[in-house]
Amino acid sequence: MSRLAVLGGTPVRQDRDWPRWPQYDTATEQEVVAAIRSRRWAISWPSDGTQARERRFAEQWAAYNEVPYCVSLDHGSSALLVALEALDIGPGDEVIVPTMTWVAPVTAVLRVGALPVLVDVDPETGCITADTVRSGLSPHTRAVILVHHAATVADLDGILEVTEQAGAALVEDCAQAHGARWRGRNVGTHGAVGVFSFQNGKVLAAGEGGAVITSDEQIYRKVQQLRADSRRYPDADVPAGEMELVEDGEVMGANYCMSELSAAVLLDQLPRLDEQHQHREKIAVNLEKGLAELGDFGAIPVPPEADRRSIYEYGITFREGTFGSVPATRVAEAISAELGMPWYPPDPPLNRSLMLRPHTKRRFAQIWSEEGRRRATGREFPGAERFCASTLLCHHGALLGNSADVEDILSALAKVRDHHDQL
Ligand SMILES: *Cc1c(COP(=O)(O)O)cnc(C)c1O
Repeated sequence: MSRLAVLGGTPVRQDRDWPRWPQYDTATEQEVVAAIRSRRWAISWPSDGTQARERRFAEQWAAYNEVPYCVSLDHGSSALLVALEALDIGPGDEVIVPTMTWVAPVTAVLRVGALPVLVDVDPETGCITADTVRSGLSPHTRAVILVHHAATVADLDGILEVTEQAGAALVEDCAQAHGARWRGRNVGTHGAVGVFSFQNGKVLAAGEGGAVITSDEQIYRKVQQLRADSRRYPDADVPAGEMELVEDGEVMGANYCMSELSAAVLLDQLPRLDEQHQHREKIAVNLEKGLAELGDFGAIPVPPEADRRSIYEYGITFREGTFGSVPATRVAEAISAELGMPWYPPDPPLNRSLMLRPHTKRRFAQIWSEEGRRRATGREFPGAERFCASTLLCHHGALLGNSADVEDILSALAKVRDHHDQL
């Protein structure tokens, strides 16, 4: 019983499956089949007299977030790129980005020719703060990309105060926070633009996909053209047989359009989102009661101004010394073996990530000079290091089951804690 599963002992969980992600049923299949049978698989194809699915989804996603405008795109990464282009950010500009996140926000800044300036995060939430943003400001700062990380919401009040003072635009990267709320309003609606990803693992998934939301009509007009080779939606309805997008050419674009097949999946998935939010929240609250009873453990904190969190990766935090001096990666392996599902420490911060390699591309050579690199990464990041060393994550799909799952997670944590000397 006490021998750890990672060393050949009997695992805590043996005979039951975890919920699987993404969730779908015959209604999902019917939506996709209908899209296929329509023969309209892309927005750039003659209309059948009805609105393209990607546009219908964009309208629904705008409504869900209570903003006037949304544009669908092929990826969250391109949504970030296009958002920066719409804000006219380019060479000579600096954009502040968190060191604790996926590489896409940094890549997007490089792709518009600007310099990403990495700043530290709060050691408990993994999000940037007003203070860390301030530490990265310079006269060249034009924007801040804020990531609502994993299972919480960043301090929007504090960060907005800093960006407003500095005259910098706020881009909210909500790829991990669909539907989270701050003071009664969805994330993504507090800055100039909100950016989303609908990649397979996100809480709203279509395989690949992205979106930009905004309340600014000019930005909306630009984003449409930036993602569709300088074309945009027409002002009037499009008769059957005609192309939906019209050439406008106010701004040079490229093709980052969402496929109609992806949009069909999203039209099916969106109405399921709120119930999934509630389900995960219920499981998380139970888990948090148990964690408090276990001692040593907690969850990634959520600020009181956040009326709703969106759990993309659930994060358990643990007190220093809980597992002796066993490294977090080994602890994660042991817990994963007990549960038969992956638990993992956060990805390393970007300042030491193998994914951030601008010197391997000639087009970034000028930005990533010796001086540029030092300005971008030459800070200390103690908050990110502490976050990484004291947090274990699992995918949100694991929170779509029942209370027996909570018991198993708590038993596995207790077992590995109490027998970490075997590791
Ligand atoms: C997933 C993710 C992205 C990238 O989205 P893609 O659709 O995979 O391109 C960007 N930012 C964050 C914070 C993410 O988690």
